[in-house]
Amino acid sequence: MFTLQVLGTNGLYPTENSPTSGYLVNCNGLRYLVDIGCGIFNKVKEIMPPEDLDGIIVTHYHFDHVSDIGVLSYYLQTKNKRVTVYGPDDGSPYQKLISDSPYFDFVPINCSIERENLKICFYKMNHSVLTYGVSFYCDNKKFSYSSDGNLCDSYCSLLTSCDLAVINCGLLNKDWNNSKPVLSACNVGDLAQKYGVKALISHFNPSISRSELIKEAQSRCESLQPAELKEYLI
Ligand SMILES: [Zn+2]
Repeated sequence: MFTLQVLGTNGLYPTENSPTSGYLVNCNGLRYLVDIGCGIFNKVKEIMPPEDLDGIIVTHYHFDHVSDIGVLSYYLQTKNKRVTVYGPDDGSPYQKLISDSPYFDFVPINCSIERENLKICFYKMNHSVLTYGVSFYCDNKKFSYSSDGNLCDSYCSLLTSCDLAVINCGLLNKDWNNSKPVLSACNVGDLAQKYGVKALISHFNPSISRSELIKEAQSRCESLQPAELKEYLI
C-alpha cells in the first residue's frame, strides 16, 4: 500500500485546524514524514508514535516547513529515542540544531535514498534557500512533492510519469514574476496540465483567499484539486 496523508497545507503560518507543511508518506509500512511545520508534531502523534518514523525529510529550513522539529526533540528526549532527519546541507542554524541534537541522526540530502522496494529522489528547486523537491517511487507508482520554488527544470523530473503530485503555490498570478521565490496558482495549474498529473495544490498563504487561489489554478487545469487534510491512495 502506497499512501499520502496530508497533515498541513498552510504556507507561512498556521490558522485554526490548519497547520503549515507536513506530509506523511507510507510505502508498504515504511513511513516518512516530509516537512514538519507548525502543528505537524501533534498531527503525526495522532496517527503514530513519532519515534517509529523511518525518517523525516526536511525540504528546506523555512519555519513553515521545519518549526516543529524543536518540540519533537523534546518529545524524543522523554522517550530516549532517536529519529533520522534528512535535510539540505546549507550550514544554516536549523541544520546545526538538528545535527547537534542527540535525538536526531542528521543525514545531508544527496541525490537519493533506497530502502526495500522504495526509492526516494531529490531535486533542487528554485527557492530563496537550498530546497529540494522529492519523489517517492514504490510499487511502480510515483508520488512527488514540489516543496517551494519558482519555475525551473526540476518540475520536469518531479512531474513526468507521476501518479500523484502536491505542488506548492504562494501567490496569485497578478503578484507573480520570474524573480519571486514561489509559484503562482496559475503556474501550478499550468504544470499539472502540461504533465497530465493528478495534482493537489497546497501551501496556501493564509493572507490570500484560498478559494481565489484554487479558482485561479483550476482555470488552467480543471482536474486540479486543493490538498485536503486526509489520506490519499497513490
Ligand atoms: Zn520556503
